[in-house]
Amino acid sequence: MGRAFVYVILGGGVAAGYAALEFTRRGVSHGELCIISEESVVPYERPALSKGFLLPEGIFLPSESWMDSISLSLGIEVVLGTWVKSADVKRKTLLTATGETISYKFLIIATGARALKLEEFGLNGSDAGNVCYLRDLADATRLVDVMQSCIGGNAVVIGGGYIGMECAASLVINKLNVTMVFPEAHTMARLFTPKIASYYEDYYIAKGVKFIKGTVMSSFDMDSDGKVTAVNLKDGSWLPADMVVVGIGIRPNTALFEGQLTMEKGGIKVNGQMQASDSSVYAVGDVAAFPVKLFGETRRLEHVDSARKSARHAVAAIMDLEKTNEFDYLPFFYSRVFTLSWQFYGDNAGEVVHFGDFSGNTFGAYWVNRGNLVGSFLEGGSKEQYEAISKVTRLRPAIEDLGELEKLGLGYALAE
Ligand code: FAD
Ligand code: NAD
Repeated sequence: MGRAFVYVILGGGVAAGYAALEFTRRGVSHGELCIISEESVVPYERPALSKGFLLPEGIFLPSESWMDSISLSLGIEVVLGTWVKSADVKRKTLLTATGETISYKFLIIATGARALKLEEFGLNGSDAGNVCYLRDLADATRLVDVMQSCIGGNAVVIGGGYIGMECAASLVINKLNVTMVFPEAHTMARLFTPKIASYYEDYYIAKGVKFIKGTVMSSFDMDSDGKVTAVNLKDGSWLPADMVVVGIGIRPNTALFEGQLTMEKGGIKVNGQMQASDSSVYAVGDVAAFPVKLFGETRRLEHVDSARKSARHAVAAIMDLEKTNEFDYLPFFYSRVFTLSWQFYGDNAGEVVHFGDFSGNTFGAYWVNRGNLVGSFLEGGSKEQYEAISKVTRLRPAIEDLGELEKLGLGYALAE
Protein backbone atom coordinates (compact mmCIF):
# COMPACT_ATOMS: atom_id res chain seq x y z
CA MET A 1 0.00 0.00 0.00
CA GLY A 2 1.48 3.38 -0.92
CA ARG A 3 0.95 6.90 -2.15
CA ALA A 4 3.30 9.35 -3.86
CA PHE A 5 3.51 13.13 -3.47
CA VAL A 6 5.80 15.85 -4.76
CA TYR A 7 6.09 17.49 -1.33
CA VAL A 8 5.73 15.77 2.03
CA ILE A 9 5.84 17.62 5.36
CA LEU A 10 6.66 15.24 8.20
CA GLY A 11 5.21 16.65 11.44
CA GLY A 12 2.13 18.71 12.21
CA GLY A 13 3.39 21.45 14.51
CA VAL A 14 4.29 25.08 14.10
CA ALA A 15 6.92 24.68 11.39
CA ALA A 16 4.71 22.24 9.46
CA GLY A 17 1.80 24.69 9.63
CA TYR A 18 3.86 27.60 8.34
CA ALA A 19 5.41 25.45 5.62
CA ALA A 20 1.92 24.42 4.48
CA LEU A 21 0.82 28.05 4.53
CA GLU A 22 3.78 29.04 2.37
CA PHE A 23 3.01 26.22 -0.08
CA THR A 24 -0.61 27.36 -0.36
CA ARG A 25 0.49 31.00 -0.73
CA ARG A 26 2.80 30.07 -3.59
CA GLY A 27 0.33 27.62 -5.08
CA VAL A 28 0.50 23.84 -5.13
CA SER A 29 -1.51 21.66 -7.46
CA HIS A 30 -4.11 19.13 -6.38
CA GLY A 31 -2.47 16.05 -4.87
CA GLU A 32 1.05 17.47 -4.73
CA LEU A 33 1.36 18.13 -0.98
CA CYS A 34 0.93 15.80 1.98
CA ILE A 35 1.27 16.55 5.73
CA ILE A 36 1.70 13.63 8.13
CA SER A 37 1.33 14.22 11.87
CA GLU A 38 1.14 12.09 14.95
CA GLU A 39 -1.21 14.67 16.46
CA SER A 40 -4.93 14.31 15.84
CA VAL A 41 -5.46 18.02 15.11
CA VAL A 42 -4.17 20.28 12.33
CA PRO A 43 -1.19 22.52 13.17
CA TYR A 44 -1.77 25.17 15.83
CA GLU A 45 0.20 27.88 17.63
CA ARG A 46 1.97 25.80 20.30
CA PRO A 47 2.94 28.80 22.54
CA ALA A 48 -0.74 29.22 23.49
CA LEU A 49 -0.57 25.89 25.37
CA SER A 50 1.36 27.35 28.32
CA LYS A 51 -0.42 30.71 28.23
CA GLY A 52 -4.07 31.36 27.22
CA PHE A 53 -5.00 27.67 27.21
CA LEU A 54 -4.12 27.26 30.90
CA LEU A 55 -5.94 30.35 32.14
CA PRO A 56 -9.25 30.02 34.02
CA GLU A 57 -11.14 31.43 31.04
CA GLY A 58 -9.11 28.91 28.96
CA ILE A 59 -9.32 29.81 25.34
CA PHE A 60 -7.73 27.85 22.59
CA LEU A 61 -7.57 28.74 18.97
CA PRO A 62 -6.04 26.01 16.80
CA SER A 63 -5.16 28.74 14.35
CA GLU A 64 -8.22 29.10 12.19
CA SER A 65 -6.27 30.52 9.30
CA TRP A 66 -4.20 27.33 9.09
CA MET A 67 -7.30 25.19 9.47
CA ASP A 68 -8.90 27.04 6.60
CA SER A 69 -5.94 26.95 4.31
CA ILE A 70 -5.04 23.38 5.12
CA SER A 71 -8.40 21.70 5.38
CA LEU A 72 -10.15 23.82 2.77
CA SER A 73 -7.36 23.41 0.26
CA LEU A 74 -8.84 20.24 -1.05
CA GLY A 75 -5.69 19.37 -2.87
CA ILE A 76 -3.66 18.90 0.33
CA GLU A 77 -3.61 15.48 1.92
CA VAL A 78 -3.57 15.89 5.71
CA VAL A 79 -2.80 12.58 7.41
CA LEU A 80 -3.48 13.07 11.13
CA GLY A 81 -3.05 10.74 14.11
CA THR A 82 -0.35 8.87 12.20
CA TRP A 83 3.12 8.09 13.49
CA VAL A 84 5.89 7.69 10.93
CA LYS A 85 7.97 4.79 12.17
CA SER A 86 10.79 4.73 9.63
CA ALA A 87 12.30 6.72 6.79
CA ASP A 88 14.43 5.65 3.85
CA VAL A 89 16.21 8.72 2.55
CA LYS A 90 17.81 6.92 -0.42
CA ARG A 91 14.48 5.55 -1.63
CA LYS A 92 12.64 8.78 -0.65
CA THR A 93 10.00 6.96 1.35
CA LEU A 94 8.37 7.11 4.78
CA LEU A 95 6.66 4.16 6.42
CA THR A 96 3.73 4.89 8.74
CA ALA A 97 2.71 2.87 11.78
CA THR A 98 -0.41 1.87 9.83
CA GLY A 99 1.82 0.19 7.25
CA GLU A 100 1.48 2.75 4.47
CA THR A 101 4.51 3.77 2.39
CA ILE A 102 4.50 7.44 1.42
CA SER A 103 7.00 8.56 -1.16
CA TYR A 104 8.15 12.08 -1.93
CA LYS A 105 10.22 14.12 -4.29
CA PHE A 106 10.95 16.68 -1.57
CA LEU A 107 10.67 16.04 2.16
CA ILE A 108 10.40 18.73 4.84
CA ILE A 109 11.27 17.32 8.25
CA ALA A 110 9.32 19.26 10.89
CA THR A 111 9.30 16.70 13.68
CA GLY A 112 10.14 19.20 16.43
CA ALA A 113 11.09 17.79 19.79
CA ARG A 114 9.81 15.74 22.69
CA ALA A 115 9.82 16.60 26.37
CA LEU A 116 12.62 14.93 28.34
CA LYS A 117 11.27 12.49 30.91
CA LEU A 118 12.29 12.10 34.56
CA GLU A 119 13.31 8.53 33.72
CA GLU A 120 16.09 9.92 31.48
CA PHE A 121 17.60 11.42 34.66
CA GLY A 122 17.39 8.09 36.49
CA LEU A 123 14.12 8.96 38.27
CA ASN A 124 10.66 7.34 38.22
CA GLY A 125 7.05 8.47 38.29
CA SER A 126 6.24 10.02 34.89
CA ASP A 127 3.21 7.72 34.59
CA ALA A 128 1.62 8.89 37.87
CA GLY A 129 -1.91 10.22 37.44
CA ASN A 130 -1.04 13.73 38.58
CA VAL A 131 2.38 14.22 36.94
CA CYS A 132 2.15 16.41 33.85
CA TYR A 133 4.45 17.27 30.95
CA LEU A 134 3.63 19.92 28.36
CA ARG A 135 4.47 19.60 24.69
CA ASP A 136 1.24 19.21 22.76
CA LEU A 137 -2.50 19.77 22.91
CA ALA A 138 -3.12 16.35 24.46
CA ASP A 139 -0.63 17.17 27.27
CA ALA A 140 -2.20 20.60 27.80
CA THR A 141 -5.73 19.17 27.95
CA ARG A 142 -4.57 16.66 30.55
CA LEU A 143 -2.75 19.36 32.51
CA VAL A 144 -5.93 21.47 32.66
CA ASP A 145 -7.94 18.46 33.91
CA VAL A 146 -5.40 17.67 36.62
CA MET A 147 -5.10 21.35 37.59
CA GLN A 148 -8.87 21.78 37.88
CA SER A 149 -9.03 18.81 40.24
CA CYS A 150 -6.43 20.43 42.53
CA ILE A 151 -7.61 24.06 42.89
CA GLY A 152 -6.46 25.35 46.30
CA GLY A 153 -3.92 22.50 46.57
CA ASN A 154 -0.16 22.24 46.16
CA ALA A 155 1.61 22.14 42.81
CA VAL A 156 5.31 21.35 42.49
CA VAL A 157 6.98 22.54 39.30
CA ILE A 158 10.17 20.67 38.40
CA GLY A 159 12.46 22.82 36.24
CA GLY A 160 13.21 26.53 36.13
CA GLY A 161 13.13 27.08 32.35
CA TYR A 162 10.39 28.28 30.00
CA ILE A 163 7.83 25.58 30.84
CA GLY A 164 8.49 25.95 34.56
CA MET A 165 8.10 29.74 34.52
CA GLU A 166 5.05 29.89 32.28
CA CYS A 167 3.24 26.99 33.97
CA ALA A 168 4.00 28.29 37.48
CA ALA A 169 2.35 31.62 36.56
CA SER A 170 -0.73 29.87 35.15
CA LEU A 171 -1.00 27.56 38.17
CA VAL A 172 -0.94 30.55 40.55
CA ILE A 173 -3.60 32.32 38.50
CA ASN A 174 -5.66 29.13 38.89
CA LYS A 175 -5.24 29.43 42.68
CA LEU A 176 -2.81 26.63 43.37
CA ASN A 177 0.09 26.98 45.83
CA VAL A 178 3.19 26.67 43.68
CA THR A 179 6.76 25.67 44.51
CA MET A 180 9.40 25.60 41.78
CA VAL A 181 12.42 23.29 42.16
CA PHE A 182 15.46 23.49 39.91
CA PRO A 183 19.20 22.81 40.08
CA GLU A 184 20.52 26.21 39.00
CA ALA A 185 21.12 29.32 41.11
CA HIS A 186 18.34 31.22 39.35
CA THR A 187 15.45 30.82 36.92
CA MET A 188 15.90 30.74 33.12
CA ALA A 189 19.61 30.05 33.49
CA ARG A 190 20.07 29.58 29.73
CA LEU A 191 19.15 33.22 29.05
CA PHE A 192 18.62 35.41 32.10
CA THR A 193 21.41 37.10 34.03
CA PRO A 194 21.12 36.80 37.85
CA LYS A 195 19.88 40.42 37.92
CA ILE A 196 17.15 39.82 35.33
CA ALA A 197 16.13 36.56 37.00
CA SER A 198 15.85 38.22 40.38
CA TYR A 199 13.30 40.73 38.99
CA TYR A 200 11.01 37.91 37.81
CA GLU A 201 11.60 35.82 40.93
CA ASP A 202 10.63 38.76 43.19
CA TYR A 203 7.51 39.25 41.10
CA TYR A 204 6.62 35.55 41.39
CA ILE A 205 7.30 35.56 45.14
CA ALA A 206 4.90 38.50 45.50
CA LYS A 207 2.31 36.32 43.71
CA GLY A 208 2.92 33.51 46.21
CA VAL A 209 5.37 31.26 44.32
CA LYS A 210 8.14 29.61 46.37
CA PHE A 211 11.55 28.79 44.89
CA ILE A 212 13.82 25.94 45.90
CA LYS A 213 17.10 26.35 44.03
CA GLY A 214 20.28 24.37 43.72
CA THR A 215 18.71 20.96 44.23
CA VAL A 216 16.70 18.37 42.31
CA MET A 217 13.98 15.87 43.15
CA SER A 218 15.09 12.40 44.21
CA SER A 219 11.77 10.51 44.34
CA PHE A 220 7.99 10.74 44.67
CA ASP A 221 5.80 9.43 47.49
CA MET A 222 2.73 7.76 45.97
CA ASP A 223 -0.70 6.81 47.27
CA SER A 224 -2.49 3.56 46.49
CA ASP A 225 -4.17 5.17 43.43
CA GLY A 226 -0.78 5.80 41.83
CA LYS A 227 -0.86 9.53 42.52
CA VAL A 228 2.06 11.55 43.82
CA THR A 229 1.50 12.88 47.34
CA ALA A 230 4.95 14.34 47.99
CA VAL A 231 8.15 15.22 46.16
CA ASN A 232 11.38 14.26 47.93
CA LEU A 233 14.42 16.40 47.19
CA LYS A 234 18.12 15.52 47.11
CA ASP A 235 18.80 18.02 49.91
CA GLY A 236 16.71 15.80 52.22
CA SER A 237 13.60 18.00 52.34
CA TRP A 238 10.17 17.15 50.89
CA LEU A 239 7.19 19.00 49.48
CA PRO A 240 3.54 17.97 49.71
CA ALA A 241 2.06 17.71 46.21
CA ASP A 242 -1.42 17.44 44.72
CA MET A 243 0.09 17.73 41.26
CA VAL A 244 3.49 17.97 39.59
CA VAL A 245 4.48 19.74 36.35
CA VAL A 246 7.77 18.65 34.81
CA GLY A 247 9.66 20.94 32.39
CA ILE A 248 13.25 19.71 32.21
CA GLY A 249 14.10 20.38 28.59
CA ILE A 250 13.57 18.70 25.25
CA ARG A 251 15.23 16.33 22.79
CA PRO A 252 14.83 16.94 19.03
CA ASN A 253 13.01 14.16 17.15
CA THR A 254 15.87 13.10 14.86
CA ALA A 255 15.79 9.32 15.42
CA LEU A 256 14.22 8.46 12.03
CA PHE A 257 17.17 10.04 10.25
CA GLU A 258 20.16 9.04 12.42
CA GLY A 259 22.78 7.42 10.18
CA GLN A 260 21.06 8.78 7.04
CA LEU A 261 21.54 12.55 7.37
CA THR A 262 24.36 14.59 8.89
CA MET A 263 23.60 15.71 12.46
CA GLU A 264 24.97 18.64 14.45
CA LYS A 265 24.13 20.23 17.81
CA GLY A 266 21.60 17.46 18.46
CA GLY A 267 19.66 18.31 15.30
CA ILE A 268 19.65 17.74 11.54
CA LYS A 269 22.38 19.85 9.95
CA VAL A 270 21.10 22.04 7.11
CA ASN A 271 22.59 24.74 4.89
CA GLY A 272 21.35 28.29 4.38
CA GLN A 273 18.45 26.95 2.30
CA MET A 274 17.42 24.62 5.16
CA GLN A 275 18.56 21.73 2.94
CA ALA A 276 19.95 18.65 4.71
CA SER A 277 22.90 16.50 3.61
CA ASP A 278 20.55 14.77 1.14
CA SER A 279 19.45 17.39 -1.40
CA SER A 280 15.79 16.19 -1.47
CA VAL A 281 15.42 16.69 2.25
CA TYR A 282 14.89 19.93 4.19
CA ALA A 283 14.64 20.35 7.97
CA VAL A 284 12.93 23.22 9.80
CA GLY A 285 11.96 24.29 13.32
CA ASP A 286 13.31 22.79 16.55
CA VAL A 287 14.87 19.82 14.74
CA ALA A 288 17.09 21.87 12.39
CA ALA A 289 20.65 22.99 13.11
CA PHE A 290 21.19 25.87 10.66
CA PRO A 291 23.90 28.45 9.98
CA VAL A 292 23.14 31.70 11.79
CA LYS A 293 24.96 34.07 9.46
CA LEU A 294 25.05 36.84 12.05
CA PHE A 295 27.09 34.69 14.46
CA GLY A 296 29.02 32.75 11.81
CA GLU A 297 28.06 29.44 13.38
CA THR A 298 25.49 26.69 13.35
CA ARG A 299 22.73 26.83 15.94
CA ARG A 300 19.64 24.83 16.79
CA LEU A 301 16.94 27.06 18.21
CA GLU A 302 13.86 26.00 20.15
CA HIS A 303 11.56 28.95 19.52
CA VAL A 304 8.46 29.65 17.53
CA ASP A 305 9.74 32.55 15.43
CA SER A 306 12.59 30.49 14.04
CA ALA A 307 10.17 27.59 13.37
CA ARG A 308 7.89 29.88 11.38
CA LYS A 309 10.62 31.61 9.40
CA SER A 310 12.78 28.56 8.72
CA ALA A 311 9.69 26.74 7.41
CA ARG A 312 8.81 29.56 5.02
CA HIS A 313 12.42 29.73 3.90
CA ALA A 314 12.61 26.01 3.13
CA VAL A 315 9.46 26.18 0.99
CA ALA A 316 10.80 29.22 -0.87
CA ALA A 317 14.06 27.34 -1.51
CA ILE A 318 12.29 24.17 -2.68
CA MET A 319 10.04 26.07 -5.07
CA ASP A 320 12.60 28.59 -6.28
CA LEU A 321 16.07 27.42 -5.27
CA GLU A 322 17.93 29.62 -7.73
CA LYS A 323 16.38 32.83 -6.47
CA THR A 324 16.32 32.13 -2.73
CA ASN A 325 19.01 33.82 -0.65
CA GLU A 326 20.65 32.16 2.33
CA PHE A 327 18.48 32.22 5.47
CA ASP A 328 19.64 35.30 7.39
CA TYR A 329 17.99 34.97 10.77
CA LEU A 330 18.15 37.15 13.86
CA PRO A 331 17.25 34.88 16.81
CA PHE A 332 14.14 36.13 18.61
CA PHE A 333 12.74 34.73 21.87
CA TYR A 334 9.88 36.05 23.99
CA SER A 335 7.64 35.17 26.89
CA ARG A 336 4.52 36.51 28.57
CA VAL A 337 3.58 35.71 32.17
CA PHE A 338 1.08 37.47 34.46
CA THR A 339 1.12 41.04 33.10
CA LEU A 340 4.84 40.82 32.26
CA SER A 341 6.22 40.53 28.77
CA TRP A 342 9.80 40.39 27.45
CA GLN A 343 11.59 40.06 24.16
CA PHE A 344 15.16 39.02 23.40
CA TYR A 345 17.08 39.36 20.13
CA GLY A 346 20.46 37.97 19.10
CA ASP A 347 22.95 36.16 21.30
CA ASN A 348 23.47 36.27 25.08
CA ALA A 349 27.27 36.01 24.84
CA GLY A 350 29.97 38.26 26.25
CA GLU A 351 29.69 41.05 28.81
CA VAL A 352 26.30 42.26 30.02
CA VAL A 353 25.20 45.86 30.43
CA HIS A 354 21.91 46.25 32.29
CA PHE A 355 19.79 49.34 31.85
CA GLY A 356 16.49 50.88 32.96
CA ASP A 357 14.50 50.72 36.14
CA PHE A 358 14.67 47.29 37.77
CA SER A 359 12.30 48.51 40.47
CA GLY A 360 9.79 49.64 37.85
CA ASN A 361 8.25 48.16 34.74
CA THR A 362 10.75 48.71 31.94
CA PHE A 363 14.33 47.48 32.00
CA GLY A 364 16.70 45.49 29.89
CA ALA A 365 20.20 44.42 29.00
CA TYR A 366 22.66 44.42 26.13
CA TRP A 367 25.30 41.76 25.54
CA VAL A 368 28.60 42.97 24.11
CA ASN A 369 30.89 40.30 22.67
CA ARG A 370 34.39 41.07 21.38
CA GLY A 371 33.54 44.77 21.08
CA ASN A 372 30.17 44.42 19.32
CA LEU A 373 26.63 44.56 20.60
CA VAL A 374 25.27 41.06 19.91
CA GLY A 375 22.17 40.69 22.09
CA SER A 376 19.35 42.77 23.57
CA PHE A 377 16.70 42.02 26.18
CA LEU A 378 13.77 44.24 27.10
CA GLU A 379 10.93 43.83 29.60
CA GLY A 380 7.83 45.99 29.37
CA GLY A 381 8.74 47.71 26.10
CA SER A 382 6.48 49.37 23.55
CA LYS A 383 6.26 48.16 19.94
CA GLU A 384 8.68 50.90 18.86
CA GLN A 385 11.14 50.02 21.63
CA TYR A 386 11.14 46.33 20.73
CA GLU A 387 11.64 47.23 17.08
CA ALA A 388 14.57 49.46 18.07
CA ILE A 389 16.38 46.73 20.04
CA SER A 390 15.78 44.25 17.24
CA LYS A 391 17.18 46.67 14.66
CA VAL A 392 20.24 47.64 16.68
CA THR A 393 21.06 43.99 17.43
CA ARG A 394 20.99 43.09 13.76
CA LEU A 395 23.42 45.95 13.04
CA ARG A 396 25.98 44.60 15.58
CA PRO A 397 27.41 48.08 16.26
CA ALA A 398 30.90 48.42 17.75
CA ILE A 399 30.76 49.43 21.41
CA GLU A 400 33.80 51.23 22.78
CA ASP A 401 32.54 52.30 26.18
CA LEU A 402 30.32 49.96 28.21
CA GLY A 403 29.74 52.71 30.81
CA GLU A 404 28.38 55.02 28.11
CA LEU A 405 26.13 52.23 26.79
CA GLU A 406 24.79 51.71 30.30
CA LYS A 407 24.13 55.45 30.69
CA LEU A 408 22.30 55.66 27.36
CA GLY A 409 20.36 52.45 28.04
CA LEU A 410 17.32 52.04 25.82
CA GLY A 411 18.12 55.48 24.36
CA TYR A 412 21.08 53.88 22.58
CA ALA A 413 18.83 51.55 20.57
CA LEU A 414 16.27 54.29 19.94
CA ALA A 415 18.94 56.64 18.57
CA GLU A 416 20.53 54.16 16.16
P1 FAD B 1 6.54 21.11 16.98
O1 FAD B 1 5.66 22.31 17.00
O2 FAD B 1 6.82 20.41 18.26
O3 FAD B 1 5.90 20.06 15.96
C1 FAD B 1 6.44 18.79 15.74
C2 FAD B 1 5.35 17.92 15.13
O4 FAD B 1 5.91 16.74 14.59
C3 FAD B 1 4.29 17.49 16.11
O5 FAD B 1 3.03 17.62 15.50
C4 FAD B 1 4.62 16.00 16.35
O6 FAD B 1 3.51 15.24 16.74
C5 FAD B 1 5.10 15.62 14.96
N1 FAD B 1 5.94 14.42 14.87
C6 FAD B 1 7.16 14.22 15.44
N2 FAD B 1 7.65 13.01 15.10
C7 FAD B 1 6.73 12.43 14.30
C8 FAD B 1 6.65 11.18 13.62
N3 FAD B 1 7.64 10.28 13.67
N4 FAD B 1 5.52 10.92 12.90
C9 FAD B 1 4.52 11.81 12.82
N5 FAD B 1 4.55 13.02 13.43
C10 FAD B 1 5.63 13.32 14.15
N6 FAD B 1 8.50 29.48 21.61
C11 FAD B 1 8.53 30.85 21.62
O7 FAD B 1 9.35 31.45 20.92
N7 FAD B 1 7.67 31.55 22.41
C12 FAD B 1 6.76 30.96 23.20
O8 FAD B 1 6.03 31.63 23.91
C13 FAD B 1 6.72 29.53 23.22
N8 FAD B 1 5.85 28.87 24.01
C14 FAD B 1 5.84 27.51 24.03
C15 FAD B 1 4.94 26.86 24.87
C16 FAD B 1 4.93 25.48 24.93
C17 FAD B 1 3.97 24.80 25.84
C18 FAD B 1 5.83 24.73 24.15
C19 FAD B 1 5.83 23.23 24.22
C20 FAD B 1 6.72 25.36 23.31
C21 FAD B 1 6.72 26.76 23.23
N9 FAD B 1 7.60 27.45 22.40
C22 FAD B 1 7.62 28.81 22.38
C23 FAD B 1 8.49 26.72 21.50
C24 FAD B 1 7.82 26.54 20.13
O9 FAD B 1 6.50 26.14 20.28
C25 FAD B 1 8.61 25.53 19.32
O10 FAD B 1 9.88 26.08 19.08
C26 FAD B 1 7.89 25.19 18.02
O11 FAD B 1 6.68 24.56 18.27
C27 FAD B 1 8.77 24.32 17.13
O12 FAD B 1 8.05 23.97 16.00
P2 FAD B 1 8.29 22.57 15.26
O13 FAD B 1 7.26 22.52 14.18
O14 FAD B 1 9.71 22.45 14.96
O15 FAD B 1 7.95 21.47 16.35
P1 NAD C 1 14.35 24.66 29.21
O1 NAD C 1 15.55 24.20 28.49
O2 NAD C 1 13.87 26.05 29.04
O3 NAD C 1 14.56 24.46 30.76
C1 NAD C 1 14.92 23.24 31.28
C2 NAD C 1 15.07 23.40 32.76
O4 NAD C 1 15.12 22.11 33.29
C3 NAD C 1 16.35 24.08 33.23
O5 NAD C 1 16.18 25.43 33.41
C4 NAD C 1 16.60 23.42 34.56
O6 NAD C 1 16.10 24.24 35.58
C5 NAD C 1 15.74 22.20 34.55
N1 NAD C 1 16.38 20.93 34.81
C6 NAD C 1 17.28 20.27 34.04
N2 NAD C 1 17.55 19.10 34.61
C7 NAD C 1 16.81 19.01 35.73
C8 NAD C 1 16.64 18.03 36.73
N3 NAD C 1 17.30 16.87 36.71
N4 NAD C 1 15.76 18.28 37.73
C9 NAD C 1 15.09 19.44 37.76
N5 NAD C 1 15.20 20.39 36.84
C10 NAD C 1 16.06 20.17 35.85
O7 NAD C 1 13.21 23.60 28.82
P2 NAD C 1 11.66 23.58 29.20
O8 NAD C 1 11.34 24.63 30.17
O9 NAD C 1 11.35 22.16 29.51
O10 NAD C 1 11.00 23.97 27.83
C11 NAD C 1 10.86 22.98 26.82
C12 NAD C 1 10.91 23.61 25.45
O11 NAD C 1 9.79 24.43 25.24
C13 NAD C 1 12.14 24.45 25.19
O12 NAD C 1 12.58 24.18 23.89
C14 NAD C 1 11.63 25.86 25.24
O13 NAD C 1 12.34 26.72 24.37
C15 NAD C 1 10.20 25.68 24.77
N6 NAD C 1 9.33 26.71 25.34
C16 NAD C 1 9.59 28.00 25.00
C17 NAD C 1 8.81 28.99 25.52
C18 NAD C 1 9.10 30.42 25.13
O14 NAD C 1 9.95 30.62 24.27
N7 NAD C 1 8.42 31.39 25.73
C19 NAD C 1 7.78 28.68 26.40
C20 NAD C 1 7.55 27.35 26.75
C21 NAD C 1 8.35 26.37 26.20
